[in-house]
Order: sequence, then C-alpha cells, then structure tokens
Amino acid sequence: MIDPYMIFIDFDGTITENDVGYEMFKKFTSAATEPIVQAYRRGKVNSLDCLTRECEIWNESSIDHTKVFAYLDDQTLRPGIEKFLIELGKLQIKPMILSEGFDFYIDRILSSHKLGNLERVTNIARFEKGRISPEFPHYKFGCLECSSCKGYHIRRLRPPNSCAIYIGDGHSDLHASLTADIVFARSHLAELLEGAKRRFFAYGTFHDISAELKNIRQIGLFAQSEKINFCRFSERYKEKIHKLWESGEVMSYVGYPFGLGWSRARFNDHWKKLLRDEQAIYLALEDNSGNFLGEGKIAFPDEDGFCQPDMKLLPEFWGQGLGFEAWHIILERIGARWPEAGIVVTPNIENSRAIKLYRSLGFKFIGDEYLWEPPESDFGAVPVCYRRMVKKGVASGKNI
Ligand SMILES: [Zn+2]
Repeated sequence: MIDPYMIFIDFDGTITENDVGYEMFKKFTSAATEPIVQAYRRGKVNSLDCLTRECEIWNESSIDHTKVFAYLDDQTLRPGIEKFLIELGKLQIKPMILSEGFDFYIDRILSSHKLGNLERVTNIARFEKGRISPEFPHYKFGCLECSSCKGYHIRRLRPPNSCAIYIGDGHSDLHASLTADIVFARSHLAELLEGAKRRFFAYGTFHDISAELKNIRQIGLFAQSEKINFCRFSERYKEKIHKLWESGEVMSYVGYPFGLGWSRARFNDHWKKLLRDEQAIYLALEDNSGNFLGEGKIAFPDEDGFCQPDMKLLPEFWGQGLGFEAWHIILERIGARWPEAGIVVTPNIENSRAIKLYRSLGFKFIGDEYLWEPPESDFGAVPVCYRRMVKKGVASGKNI
C-alpha cells in the first residue's frame, strides 16, 4: 500500500516565523553577511558558497554562544503548526523537514517547542565556543547548486506513486517546488513561482494549509494546472471513466470507433485492477468547477527507461487548449520523478490533431509504422496503423 501523500516542509521562515538562519548570521555579524546573501538571492553565487562564506564571516568575530542560544530560544513558530502536525498524525501522513539550514539551531528550536521528534534532513554544523564548522554531506548528490538540494531529497524519499506536497517560502525552496506535485508558497517563493507560471496554494499560517489539505484529500488532488485538477481515480469517477471509454469519438483512433463495448463485468474487473496498480498513476481530470474532462495516466518507466503515458479528453472539451495543458503537466510530473526517462506516445498515423499536439510538446517520430490488430472477440474494433513518437528525458541516451 502506497501512502497517497507525503509532506515536505521547509524550516526557516516556514515552520518558524522568522528566517532564523539568515537573521542569526545577520544579527551576530552586524550585517557583514548581507552582501553575500543578496548575491545568492540574485543568483550570483550558489547556496553552498553563500553558507560557507557566512560561516567564515561569523568565525572572524568572537561571538558569545549564550547570546546565540538566547536568540534561538526566543524564536516563535508559525501559527497552526502544532495542530497541523497532530492532524497529519491522525491521517498517518508523515511530515519531513527539508532545510539548507544547520542542525544545531534547527534542533534547538524544535526541541524547545517539543517537536524534537520531527524527521529532518539538514546541513550539519558543529557549534563550539561560538564558532560554526559547517558540513554539507548531501551537496555532491544533488544539483550542485543547492548546498542540500531539496528536489533531490524529494525524489529519493517519495515513492514515485505518492503525491509530494511541499510547503516553503524562499529561494532555497525552488527545486523542491519544481519536484513536488502540490506546493504551498508564500513570500519570495510565491514570487518565484508566479514568475515561472507555476501553480501553488498561497498561505499565511498552517491553519490555511490545514483547511486546504482537507479539500485536497476530499477530491484526491494529485496535481494542478491553471484550468485542470488532476485527481486520483476513485469511486466518484468510475461511471465517468466508463462513459469516456464507451465514446466512439474518443476511442476511434485507438481502434474502437463504437467505444470499447465492454460488458459491465469486464469494466468492473479492469477498474479494480487499475485501483490496485502500483506501477502507474491513474488520474481523472476536472475543471475548477468540478466538471469531468477526461483521464490521464502516468506510467512508470519500462525496463528500457521509457514511460508510456496517456491522456483522453471528452470531445466537448477538444480544441480549447486543455489537451496541451493536461499533457504539459503529465510530462512535467514524469520529469520530476524520473529526470532521465524517455517518453513514448503511439499515435494513429491518421490522427493529425494528436500528432500536431505531440510535436508541439517536443515529441519526434522514430522507427517504422506498426499495425495493431484487435482481438477477434472485440466486436466492432478495427486495425490501427500507428508510429512511435519519442521525447527524450534530460539525460537519456537510450534508443528504442
Ligand atoms: Zn537544487
């Protein structure tokens, strides 16, 4: 059984009200760290260099550690966090802190608020006699920009079948936000995501997030685009999916010009298998008002490293740009899970509309045309001539 949701939470400025690490360095170095932080925020230096330099600047002065501890013990948490964590416990959703901050101050603050048992992945620093000696054990495994890439951590910690929710506020949350399926953002992160035209839920407190999480779970939300909610298959979509598959218009290019024509028992049997399938994510597509639009499928990579996803829309929603929008999210979510996977689609060579759409998404024809013959038992089904189109993953060198 796969957990439907995993929640990853930033620490500084998200769990805490203040951006504690940044403020701490600024306060105790009389703002000598400010130029390097501003250079980081403008993208001039990476976070590893920024944090390393901040520690060097810190160690140039002699800092009274008791004053640092007093400052840390004064920090307050964002309203609603305790209640939010209790709710997650009841839902058996395990939260995980991902931070580019240092363990010595994060651990101290969490313990002082009786949250010392929260799991976290952070950078490490020895804090002795007022001096900070940093270590970046995760740097080399990540993107080599972040000191501890949160996108990398989400990819390694989240089973591909589960939906990753990320909650953050700053520049260091960008890679996590691009990897996670659903994002809660405020402050700088909200500005960055607006600039990148990425959907997110705005929040001020964890009370806001609790309320939204209730809605998310209710519809089984997995991802979101501007006009489409991608929701996991559940009983509430069963009849709608059945109707979609029985539409001759929808199924004609895959060889079923009168719809699949399946008996109710065959459909029910197949439906049960889909709900148990852990090697693919089946999604019902809805508009923002809850109208059913169609379905999407994120298939896991095969043994050659290629995913074969799918998407079908009800005919009344064709020609409105929704197909492009839906495919864009499906490809984006595949890339977030398996950056190196190639992606294959197999359009009917007569389906010029689909071929044009796939071309606009970066797919290219590869190999010969093939003929698919329907089983004799599928009355009314017709052969289909199709050809593969492929979109290579970021680092894929394989061919099919
Ligand atoms: Zn990164």
